[in-house]
Amino acid sequence: MDKLILIRYGEIALKGHNRNFFINLLTKNIRKALRGINNRIVNDRGRILVELAENSGDAEQAVERLKKVFGIVSVSVVTKVEKEMESIERAALEMVSRLKTATFKVEARRADKTFPLTSPEICGRVGAYILSGCEGIRVDVHNPETLVNIEIRDKAYIYTDAAMGPGGLPTGSSGKGILLLSGGIDSPVAGWMVAKRGVELQAVHFHSFPFTSERAKQKVIDIAKVLSGYTGGLKLHMVSLTDIQSSINQECPEEQGTILTRRFMMRIAARIAASEGALALVTGESLGQVASQTMESIYVTNASVELPVYRPLLGMDKVEIMERARNIGTYEISILPYEDCCTLFLPKFPETRPKLDKIMQSETHLDIDGLLEEALKSKEVLDIG
Ligand code: ATP
Ligand code: MG
Repeated sequence: MDKLILIRYGEIALKGHNRNFFINLLTKNIRKALRGINNRIVNDRGRILVELAENSGDAEQAVERLKKVFGIVSVSVVTKVEKEMESIERAALEMVSRLKTATFKVEARRADKTFPLTSPEICGRVGAYILSGCEGIRVDVHNPETLVNIEIRDKAYIYTDAAMGPGGLPTGSSGKGILLLSGGIDSPVAGWMVAKRGVELQAVHFHSFPFTSERAKQKVIDIAKVLSGYTGGLKLHMVSLTDIQSSINQECPEEQGTILTRRFMMRIAARIAASEGALALVTGESLGQVASQTMESIYVTNASVELPVYRPLLGMDKVEIMERARNIGTYEISILPYEDCCTLFLPKFPETRPKLDKIMQSETHLDIDGLLEEALKSKEVLDIG
């Protein structure tokens, strides 16, 4: 008996002549995710099989990691036995007795049509064997607690449950994007959603050290670590906004502080994008959520860069975003109460309907290029995950 993991992918199978490209990339990402676990990956007509070395303890760990690999729809731990009924029956019984389940149903599929029994016959035989070997168990064809799947291919494959993967497209299949990653709830979710569509992410975080603390920095690193579990590593650029924020404070009207800062963030991120070959910026903005996210504010912020800005949360409510953050695993870190560079310099009455010409007028008091260059010089790069 061998332990295997059966991986199903959905959408990428539909990609016509690009299919091989997507599957090879997915295979590469799976290999990366399973680093340190002894395994062999086999591509098998429309799905991927991971053969694990003798140590079933690794199966659970492998499944946990695979549940985060974009492009995977579901994974099942599978027992592989010889294509003959006695071995199949024994393996199925062992699986079901281990689960201590009250009701079950058997489903069989034959890719190998030369197998002497039909699918209903296989179900009948295996069902009867389980009933005779498991005390108190019943068959329930409508709502079974455990569904026993049997597939007859080159060998017989038996499995009971499937864990959901995240779906989407394999990381790296769409090109690069730069995520503006704050310590908040929204931006990690935005990054996750774009990564799900195959975008290879890098992140930039802006701090105002020494006004923001080491703990605040660590919080962002911890969020980036969670994200890197999905993206197979994450390059994190840390940039100081301290000088920019003090110039804005000195030279510009207080109520414009947030929007002016935002425009600098976008410009810096765009420069990083240019040097990293990225084609988009990604933010966690959601329409109407706070003063800086009115249509007017987004218009003025957007006008600071030419690059497309992806805002995957735009139409989501806060509760939906929070739920997604919980599922991804970033929520608990995001709600830690450490200060953020934006809240520190938050004006008492921030402008909610900024006008682009007035904002650009204020910027004439600032040495934009000089400030950008200084900020980029402060850049620290961390390789996370
Ligand atoms: P988040 O929960 O992502 O912080 P938010 O609701 O607090 O979002 P804002 O503070 O207005 O919203 O920020 C809007 C977006 O700007 C963020 O989602 C993020 O993409 C970017 N951003 C804000 N602050 C920073 C920062 N310090 N470093 C990097 N990006 C930032
Ligand atoms: Mg924020």
